[in-house]
Amino acid sequence: MEKVAILGAGIMGAGIAQVAAQGGYQVILRDLQQSIVLDGLRTVEKNLQKAVEKKQLNAQQRDEILSRISTCTDLAEVHAADLVIEAVVENMAVKKQIFAELDHLCQSHTLLATNTSSLSITEIASATRRPDKVLGMHFFNPVPVMKLVELVKGMETSDETIDIARQFVKHIGKEEVVVHRDSPGYIVNRILVPFINEATFVVGEGLADAEAVDMAMKYGAGMPMGPLELADMIGLDIIYAVILAFYNEFRDPKYRPHHLLSTMIRAGYLGRKSGRGFYRY
Ligand code: NAD
Repeated sequence: MEKVAILGAGIMGAGIAQVAAQGGYQVILRDLQQSIVLDGLRTVEKNLQKAVEKKQLNAQQRDEILSRISTCTDLAEVHAADLVIEAVVENMAVKKQIFAELDHLCQSHTLLATNTSSLSITEIASATRRPDKVLGMHFFNPVPVMKLVELVKGMETSDETIDIARQFVKHIGKEEVVVHRDSPGYIVNRILVPFINEATFVVGEGLADAEAVDMAMKYGAGMPMGPLELADMIGLDIIYAVILAFYNEFRDPKYRPHHLLSTMIRAGYLGRKSGRGFYRY
């Protein structure tokens, strides 16, 4: 595998392009408009420049990495890729349309991966005639920093596809875990989001305030960050949407959100991004 195409030059796409180029792959980064792709490329340049300042890279390595990234707006230009990683908006109709086009454009051996956080890999794969070569490749934000990639099997994803994806993940210096079934939240969010939700129950039931909950989990359970600080960082609206998606999908009351969360969202307390969540910013 030599050529990797990244679709979407937003927060995730730019990060994935960077780590793929750092891993030695030829990268083509695609978005709808040239100005967006160039913004993505500037993010990569800034990250690499910081790495040079911290002496993690030298100037020549920075330039070599950048020289491996090309850009485009026309989807047809990704036809030569051996692996396509899609990181466009989280919308099933958009993703299915793109996967159907990729299926026609790309070579028969090309793997098609999606970075979706919440949509069904099996359903995205159904838009192609190669569902065995479609998989979830779930990176974490910020991509250059976070070590993990969850490799998710759709209903028809082959073991060979997962093996090739594993080698790619190793090459870019990340750690992979395989998720054997396409199920909401995969591993990390399936555990993390109910954990945060439980922390909101502790506050909502009046057992303790947010500071006490966070202090308890940091000093009593050895966590680097309390669940409610983390909730504010992720965004309370996102936590709410994910726990509600689990509740609707599994029909299991253990995933019901506490009404404190919906009340805070109605008040505009979305966490850091709105200046107020469990804490004030
Ligand atoms: P983003 O909004 O930063 O970037 C999405 C990009 O997709 C934009 O640049 C947009 O111009 C482009 N785009 C929109 N429609 C398109 C189309 N039809 N064709 C091509 N490009 C199109 O979003 P993001 O945060 O980078 O998320 C991208 C994907 O990664 C989503 O599926 C999201 O669920 C997933 N994800 C996000 C995070 C996160 O923390 N942000 C973490 C893991 C996975």
